[in-house]
Amino acid sequence: MAEAKTARKKSADNEGPRLDVLVAGAGYVGLAAAVSIREARPNLKVAVVDAAPEGVWEKDTRASAIAAAACRMLARLGCWDEIAPHAQAITEMIVTDSRTTDPVRPVFLTFDGEVAPGEPFAHMVANKVLNGALRRRAADLGIDIIEGVAVQGFETGPANVSVHLADGIVVNARLLVAADGVNSKLRAMAGIKTVDVDYGQSGIVCTILHERPHNGRAEEHFLPAGPFAILPLTGDRSSIVWTERTDDANRLVASDDLVFEMELEQRFGLKLGELRVEGKPRAWPLGLKLARAFVAPRLALAGDAAHGIHPIAGQGLNLGFKDVAALAETVVEADRLGQDIGALDVLQRYERWRRFDTVQMGVTTDILNRMFSNDFGPLRAIRDIGLGLVDRMPRMKEFFIRQASGLSGETPRLLKGEPI
Ligand SMILES: Cc1cc2nc3c(=O)[nH]c(=O)nc-3n(C[C@H](O)[C@H](O)[C@H](O)COP(=O)(O)OP(=O)(O)OC[C@H]3O[C@@H](n4cnc5c(N)ncnc54)[C@H](O)[C@@H]3O)c2cc1C
Repeated sequence: MAEAKTARKKSADNEGPRLDVLVAGAGYVGLAAAVSIREARPNLKVAVVDAAPEGVWEKDTRASAIAAAACRMLARLGCWDEIAPHAQAITEMIVTDSRTTDPVRPVFLTFDGEVAPGEPFAHMVANKVLNGALRRRAADLGIDIIEGVAVQGFETGPANVSVHLADGIVVNARLLVAADGVNSKLRAMAGIKTVDVDYGQSGIVCTILHERPHNGRAEEHFLPAGPFAILPLTGDRSSIVWTERTDDANRLVASDDLVFEMELEQRFGLKLGELRVEGKPRAWPLGLKLARAFVAPRLALAGDAAHGIHPIAGQGLNLGFKDVAALAETVVEADRLGQDIGALDVLQRYERWRRFDTVQMGVTTDILNRMFSNDFGPLRAIRDIGLGLVDRMPRMKEFFIRQASGLSGETPRLLKGEPI
């Protein structure tokens, strides 16, 4: 651990490259990238720097649906044993399409899926559990995590990138990974443009306690303002991701607890008994943001820095883990072959691998959100027929489960649970 800290100071005296990889952003994507590379190549010096002050990550009350492929990767990286006791398997999923005032919500589509015997297609995991496990693994591998210090700028040279941190220190590395989230400053500093769509929607996220067990069932209700997802957590608890127009979402999270619970109950119903909201609900603005390039000399974007998508399919983080697995495989193979891990032609292999899949998922979530976030009668009729048809096609359902599990397409080794 001291190794990277010393390297940071010495680099300020322009002693040349001290790190091989510097990751900007200690979210799940940044941490997983650092762990994946160092796990496979202990000879590479890797450090992570994050703008948020120490301990902020522990205050994230959200939970994420982690697809089967990402679970395999976390197991391979030595994190899953710590996460598993806190992970809830999703054993079944139902989809409805109705209005909040409808007395009954007919189920149009059901999935119950395992990708292999005993392996569910996804688990729900609290974000802080996931982040904590990745941090502990990073510490075991001697990866230094520098917190409360933002990357303020960088200059790219022929053999390294000089990264300027907010505390005045300059770190030299062969490769800079930008995992600094959807509003990535590093992406902007590199002059990489984005394709942007503002949905005017926000996702209200909260955890609820209910009287009766959910039995591992996830529900997605397509309501006129957008999807309302009920995702099972361990115990008699569920995570809610509730899409509303941004003004309504802000009004709801600022409202009195009683008003919020009544509005929630109207959408959730009483099938699981009395509901109680745990903690304070929060609203997250939703949009589509796709980077026009994923790489520049000595720079690779990963996770939301490369693509922010609507949570309608619960795939944002899973796409990020796919980036990590592909980037780590590209970098590790280049290093084994004695190539420069920050060279543009090496990084372009990663870009070619990830761009199509990402654009496809961005476009799919965009279309789904536009199709389902409205109450236009003829469109409702068409989409309900579509859902009903899919429900009668076992092959089609298998295809969707495979997509949701993250095991479709050209899957990087880590996502298959294999070493790099
Ligand atoms: C309402 C909602 C529900 C969601 N549900 C799901 C789900 O169920 N499943 C799923 O797969 N995905 C889900 N997502 C998406 C998922 O949360 C994101 O894709 C994921 O958090 C992205 O991780 P990241 O590490 O790329 O970025 P972030 O988690 O945003 O992390 C970025 C990090 O970079 C740091 N940083 C920022 N600027 C700098 C700087 N200049 N220098 C250094 N560090 C910096 C920040 O402090 C932060 O720690 C959801 C998203 C929303 C909004």
